[in-house]
Amino acid sequence: MKAIYTFGNGQAEGRADMKDLLGGKGANLAEMNLIGVPVPPGFTITTEICTLYNQKGREAVVQMIKDDVMKSVAHIEKLTGNKFNDPSNPQLVSVRSGAPVSMPGMMDTVLNLGINDEVAETLAKKSGNPRFAWDSYRRFVQMYGDVVLGMKPTNKTDIDPFEAIIEEVKEKKGVKFDTELDVDDLKELVVRFKAAVKENTGKDFPTDAYDQLWGAIYAVFDSWNNDRAILYRRMNQIPEEYGTAVNVQAMVYGNMGNNSATGVCFSRDAGTGENLFNGEYLINAQGEDVVAGVRTPQQIMTEGSRRWAKLQGISEEERAAKYPSLEESMPECAKQLVDIQQKLEDHYHDMQDMEFTIQDGKLWLLQTRNGKRTGAAMVKIAMDLLREGAIDEKTVIKRMEPGKLDELLHPVFDKAAVKSAKVMAKGLPASPGAATGQIVFFADDAEEWASRKKKVIMVRIETSPEDLRGMSVAQGILTARGGMTSHAAVVARGMGKCCVSGAGTIKVDYKARTVEMDGKTYNEGDWISINGSTGEVYDGAVATVDPDLGGDYAAVMSLAEKFSTMDVYTNADSPRDAKKARELGAHGIGLCRTEHMFFEGDRIKAMREMIIAPDEATRRVALAKLLPLQRGDFEGIFEAMDGYEVTIRLLDPPLHEFVPHQLETMRELAEQTGRTLEEVKLICDGLEEFNPMLGHRGCRLGNTYPEITEMQARAIIEAALNVKAKGVDVHPKIMVPLIGVKNEIQMQANIINETAKKVFAERGETVAYKVGTMIEIPRAALVADQIAEVVDFFSFGTNDLTQMTFGYSRDDAGKFLAIYKNLGILKEDPFQVLDQEGVGQLVEMATRKGRAANPDLNVGICGEHGGEPKSVKFCNKLKLNYVSCSPYRVPIARLAAAQAAVEAM
Ligand code: ADP
Ligand code: MG
Ligand code: MG
Repeated sequence: MKAIYTFGNGQAEGRADMKDLLGGKGANLAEMNLIGVPVPPGFTITTEICTLYNQKGREAVVQMIKDDVMKSVAHIEKLTGNKFNDPSNPQLVSVRSGAPVSMPGMMDTVLNLGINDEVAETLAKKSGNPRFAWDSYRRFVQMYGDVVLGMKPTNKTDIDPFEAIIEEVKEKKGVKFDTELDVDDLKELVVRFKAAVKENTGKDFPTDAYDQLWGAIYAVFDSWNNDRAILYRRMNQIPEEYGTAVNVQAMVYGNMGNNSATGVCFSRDAGTGENLFNGEYLINAQGEDVVAGVRTPQQIMTEGSRRWAKLQGISEEERAAKYPSLEESMPECAKQLVDIQQKLEDHYHDMQDMEFTIQDGKLWLLQTRNGKRTGAAMVKIAMDLLREGAIDEKTVIKRMEPGKLDELLHPVFDKAAVKSAKVMAKGLPASPGAATGQIVFFADDAEEWASRKKKVIMVRIETSPEDLRGMSVAQGILTARGGMTSHAAVVARGMGKCCVSGAGTIKVDYKARTVEMDGKTYNEGDWISINGSTGEVYDGAVATVDPDLGGDYAAVMSLAEKFSTMDVYTNADSPRDAKKARELGAHGIGLCRTEHMFFEGDRIKAMREMIIAPDEATRRVALAKLLPLQRGDFEGIFEAMDGYEVTIRLLDPPLHEFVPHQLETMRELAEQTGRTLEEVKLICDGLEEFNPMLGHRGCRLGNTYPEITEMQARAIIEAALNVKAKGVDVHPKIMVPLIGVKNEIQMQANIINETAKKVFAERGETVAYKVGTMIEIPRAALVADQIAEVVDFFSFGTNDLTQMTFGYSRDDAGKFLAIYKNLGILKEDPFQVLDQEGVGQLVEMATRKGRAANPDLNVGICGEHGGEPKSVKFCNKLKLNYVSCSPYRVPIARLAAAQAAVEAM
């Protein structure tokens, strides 16, 4: 097994397509070498070694790779002419992690490794820049202490012990920025940092470069299993087995003085998708300084710099003097960077997110990857690349992350409301969108409030990976510090969350839990709105409207239409939902739940009357009251779905959901039906069930009280005839729920067909209709061939089917499913992602058996899974006719269906 792959000086043992083995970072470092981009030399220890490390332990792995590591270090030395662990001619390295898929902020990097007192002296002498040497040294001790020796605080209120020391030294000196510390201050920092390490760990800080190197390698492997990494993987469904690679790379120094710099850049705008090279840099800085928001970063391009200054309210003179662009401050490097970003984008055919460092006027690239982007940018960039001829239509479809489309469907601020809104502060438009919510300051509060269904906006000075959980549940994020590439901005764009960053005028007080904006003090819980597209922060909740779904979005959706073979229907119970779903591309209704209609207005009264009826005659009286109401509803839905199929499910819920539990309602019902309160109470008690989910519901109701099915069938057929008379192209499908036995569906089908015949005779007019069943009881799947003889269609009700296959109550599973996921007993919540192995087997078998018995059988699914991309792809594989999902998930399902089709080509 080859454990290590080297790269440097235009050559590499790895390639871009070896991401699984080398991690994304390592594979792209290799590739950049191969295409002639300047990259400091180094090597990558494979992800396989990480997996072995986790299985076999440290000792075994060290034995295995020790020699290779030594050889690979020699490879770096050969290319740079320096020596690792040699104080007379020292080579420093960075140790960087890199998983197969990018996990921002998850794995920690250590820079300037290999330094000690002696080495620092040499570096100072050789560079003639002692400040650089001691700045590198103090950074190393700090990073090594935090990352490798575990001194980074885990508690949100604890401050990093090294930062605390820096603050003390700065205060003593009366300066604000790290850059204002001189050599003596930096030396003092190193001494005090080491003392802190000793105090904290009981051990001396390691001075031997190889001890440092191995410590850092272990730390990278160990970091695969830190809490943040685990959380990120869980949130993004990244397998635990992947492992991370370790990259060891020669250092280049952005902190060597005013002719050095470090920065990050994007070949296109990751927020809007605009084809505009953009990025930020800091002079005389290193590593994460730009994203950490320690100083205000400057823009790379002059145009971007002017836009930025305008948003910040900075005059052109001040901008040019204090915050010049890289184009202005280092024109040669800027020009070279512009060429390289173009080269990389052309090579990868996608928007690139790059890291670079300039050491004494020489530009080096340290990373490139396909950039994370918002849903809007995802759509625009793909369509732009298609128009530019860089990618083809199928690639556009493959590039989409279906779930991200959701962002485009969310409301935007109402133009008029925004005009009259009070602007309290202005920051950078870090991630577009509109968000309104109540202010919270800490991630765990955000989580707690969100769990109580509150909309929150996280307001912070700046964010760090510890805030991920909070950010993921917030409506939006507002920070006082940090640029367009700050942690908050990058993560928010990745999550598609609205974010305003670097709103410098707001004053956040974590202790008091207040934020002051334009003279007004906001407390935790106060409402604000933020506009991630303009950077504005508004007082209170500003009204929103539906977004415009034309342009590139529509173009992508029509490509989806072009390639998909499976149709997408919607679950809609009202004409309004039906219309919305149609706008979003639904081609029919796969599930219209009639029971929801009974809860509206006064209808519940007639419904209750029906339920407590002691005999058929009384029940028919009540049903007669419901008939016209139902008919009216169906007419509205048929009209909204003109030309498309509408699948109406007969009454399904457990009876007791309709039964009054309160005395007041019982009294009303008694009056209404001319009974005593005692009588009503008795009846209601009699209707209580021990296990309503498995009780008197679904077709069991229609088979024990056939007049209910009769009424519903009549309402559907009459409504269809009525709208047909108006010229509507109507295609009703009548669906019977909860079938387990062939006789159940046979009896229901007979009632429906006889009722239809009767109505046709009365009207002297007919309409085509279909009769089908839900498959949601495992037994129905087992005898699907028998059932298929009676019906025109199957629709898998995967919510109930999952409930009954697992034996997990849908309403109670929340209590243990989260724990099951944490323990790894289940990888995913089967109510969200279809369990292909178990439940999927039933779906596959029932489809196969059903179609064998009835070749014309039409098959779809209508559970929550119908809008979940992986489940949609599974349905496509089984060649189902359609999936049906809630209106806002229709575009997601359409794209997933198209992807499945393209992948199968
Ligand atoms: P992350 O995965 O969090 O982006 P990186 O490994 O990319 O972590 O490194 C963090 C920072 O350190 C980045 O800004 C990167 O450019 C910088 N860096 C990494 N290796 C080197 C190096 N050899 N020389 C200079 N800077 C480096
Ligand atoms: Mg990082
Ligand atoms: Mg990086």
